[in-house]
Amino acid sequence: MILNIIHYGHPVLREKGKRIERVTPEIRQLAADMIETMYAANGVGLAAQQVARPLMLTVIDVSQSEQPSELLLNGQPQEIAKHMPLILLNPRITDTKGEHHGEEGCLSVPGISADIRRAARVRVEAEDIQGNPLQIEASGLLSRALQHELDHLNGILFLDRADAATRASLAGRLKKLQKETLDALKAANKKTRLFATR
Ligand code: ZN
Repeated sequence: MILNIIHYGHPVLREKGKRIERVTPEIRQLAADMIETMYAANGVGLAAQQVARPLMLTVIDVSQSEQPSELLLNGQPQEIAKHMPLILLNPRITDTKGEHHGEEGCLSVPGISADIRRAARVRVEAEDIQGNPLQIEASGLLSRALQHELDHLNGILFLDRADAATRASLAGRLKKLQKETLDALKAANKKTRLFATR
């Protein structure tokens, strides 16, 4: 099922994800729905916060991009396409190396992109959808996608990492986007209340 992707200004985007202690059928279904939603939106990654579920769960697929990536699993180099989509539970960055500037956008911040400084390489520890521990090392687009999605899981947006001049230049458009999001949220809540009182 394709889920609704929430936009900038929605308070859930600022929530830290709850740790997933047990892989239930609901979690497996949510991961499958998030993958479907990510593909439908032509994204390379999606965090649970973006579908209004503040959980430590993200999905990533960089295999369709022209930007190269490198992936090591438990220390062994891997063919990227074989491991996509990646489903990561409770991921955390345990090591970073170097730095890299690149243009970033976000499905929750439509129409806006910015140059963001990230680590060039990251090491991430997580669990897979079976609940087995996973150690990932990545560079290229996969490294950037991991850092972007793990930020989401902690309530951080790529915009928070843009330099001050970029943030200032985007302030007007972000304010407008936030208002649209909050107005839509208010309208939806009103509708829910109306139905609830019938
Ligand atoms: Zn994003």
